[in-house]
Amino acid sequence: MALARTDQMQLDRFQEYLEEVAAKEIGYPVAFDFDYSALEPFLSFSLNNAGDPFMPMTYLLNSHEFEREVVSFYAQLARAPKDQWWGYVTNGSTESNLYGLFLGRELLPDGIAYFSQDSHYSVGKNLHFLNMRHIMIRSRPNGEMDYDDLRETLKIRRDAPPIIFANIGTTMKEARDDIGQIRDILDELAIENRYIHCDAALSGGYAAFLDPVPAWDFEDGADSIAISGHKFLGSPIPCGIVLARRGHVERIGRSVAYIGSVDTTISGSRNGFTPLVLWYAIRSLGIEGMKQRLASSLATAAYAEEQLNNVGIAAWRNPQALTVVFPVPPAEVREKWQLASAGGYSHLICMPHVSRQQVDELVNDIRQAGGTRQ
Ligand SMILES: *Cc1c(COP(=O)(O)O)cnc(C)c1O
Repeated sequence: MALARTDQMQLDRFQEYLEEVAAKEIGYPVAFDFDYSALEPFLSFSLNNAGDPFMPMTYLLNSHEFEREVVSFYAQLARAPKDQWWGYVTNGSTESNLYGLFLGRELLPDGIAYFSQDSHYSVGKNLHFLNMRHIMIRSRPNGEMDYDDLRETLKIRRDAPPIIFANIGTTMKEARDDIGQIRDILDELAIENRYIHCDAALSGGYAAFLDPVPAWDFEDGADSIAISGHKFLGSPIPCGIVLARRGHVERIGRSVAYIGSVDTTISGSRNGFTPLVLWYAIRSLGIEGMKQRLASSLATAAYAEEQLNNVGIAAWRNPQALTVVFPVPPAEVREKWQLASAGGYSHLICMPHVSRQQVDELVNDIRQAGGTRQ
């Protein structure tokens, strides 16, 4: 499979371009500090993880063994009930969230989904796919769900069981909805038929290592949880994990003769390479390595908040967040550093690859461009 010289040049130019723009990427929740070159031999196989990773499969070029280890690792971090959980490696949290909402809808067909204003943009799309009734709940200024608005809204819809879509780290402000408080509200209103899905795309990668640990996991009351693999852990290919209580999943699986497995997943053919990537990251970093990466990222975030404040920029962040929020800086700064902006705010996300040097350069750029609009 050789390339013509001009085609090779096109690839070379693309690689140079990537190296250049990667050095200025501090605005999205994706980690770059990885090296998976040891996995290169596995690119020579047509791996396919179709079907349930916990069931045997007729097609033997699958990495189900590694996929099971990956989901088991996260099930433990998320305090899933022993042997009473299930999960798989997805294409990312959009699919993981779709799966969680799908389970919620299958269990509570007359249910209404509740999600906050600060939820990820894909939630509206997922609810549309599933044709689910839904209500948007107000957010507090820090991006967290407004629990009073949730309580008042649930009160007037007591005839329909709620499917709560909680954010464990919102997209713009990394706010974490407290599912302990949400559960208390449901208890207080004597709502027994309910489902809680946690969108922990970013924070699920490290929530278990925070001190104090936020209320986000199965013991706190989650029925399903979404975590992205390419965010905190880091992966050259987008991927994610979905975890759910086993009893819920058993109600929807169907056996399919063609693959000799059970069709419990959303996609048919599934990525067999990304489970190897996640497995490699988990094994090479270990819990200690992950804790260290988190500590250093949190320290960079604290540093960035302070440096921005020092030059008069009203930067802030939620408790124990990697995301530093500040008023939108001028366009040339946003473009150079690939800063996402919404609702008058931009953010810098101090993922493990973000350095203090980059923070200093950003602060300097904002100052030279005349500060932020306040
Ligand atoms: C990134 C993100 C998503 C979407 O996840 P993908 O892995 O990009 O599909 C959903 N919710 C939140 C809060 C996110 O940060």
